[in-house]
Amino acid sequence: MSADVSKLAAPGGLQFIAHGGDRTTLSDVLDRTFKPSDMLIADSEPRVPQLFVSDMDSTMIMAECIDELADFAGLKPQIAAITERAMQGELDFESALRERVLLLRGLSEGAIAECLATRIAPMPGARVLVETLKAKGCKTVLVTGGFHQFADPVAEQLGFEMVVANRLEISDGQLTGGLVGGITDSGVKRAVLIEEAARIGAGAITLATGDGANDIPMLIAATYGIAYAAKPKAREAADGWVDRGDLTGVLELLGVPRDEWVWE
Ligand SMILES: [Mg+2]
Repeated sequence: MSADVSKLAAPGGLQFIAHGGDRTTLSDVLDRTFKPSDMLIADSEPRVPQLFVSDMDSTMIMAECIDELADFAGLKPQIAAITERAMQGELDFESALRERVLLLRGLSEGAIAECLATRIAPMPGARVLVETLKAKGCKTVLVTGGFHQFADPVAEQLGFEMVVANRLEISDGQLTGGLVGGITDSGVKRAVLIEEAARIGAGAITLATGDGANDIPMLIAATYGIAYAAKPKAREAADGWVDRGDLTGVLELLGVPRDEWVWE
């Protein structure tokens, strides 16, 4: 294996170009050596992706929506405990989701709007990341195990062009405790990345960002899978990580010059 550190862009991240070799070991060594760091390990100079697929909760927004919603129902400890176990990969995602949603039965639809307005804030740098990639011709997709009722307005605010999410079932202004349609889980996240990449064409360059265990297959499938302030399992599976800064760290790692970032 040969490797060279191609760029140390102060105060940005470290791009590590590795030609062959054992990436898992390399990743582990770099992580332990530089922790905390912003790092991207790639087999050639990183390029601007043609497709960006991102997780929402704790990646594009600074909360887990279902935990915040649970707070309105007075169920936060019960639900947060299940969320954490799911994110750590200790609990099957679909079971954990259905269990938590059932606990929310009877919650008013208005609680969602109140949650959004008072508790859901974008992750710093999220809009700059999305708008900058879009300006460079990249398609942007928000894919979440959370809910359309949150993801649609978040996508609108951050500039994402497409949303794939779960949908809370609502009847007579109240959550029924059920979900409508199929479940968006780790397999769907990965499938969305692969399908959208195929639409672009063979060899499309893709970027995925996420923080949890259910993001791992998507992070692995992407050309650049970057773990953002992530749980250990997601970090280990990714091609890179951002530990130190906001989401513009992803642009640093991709080598997008700051004077080309879109701040609007
Ligand atoms: Mg997440």
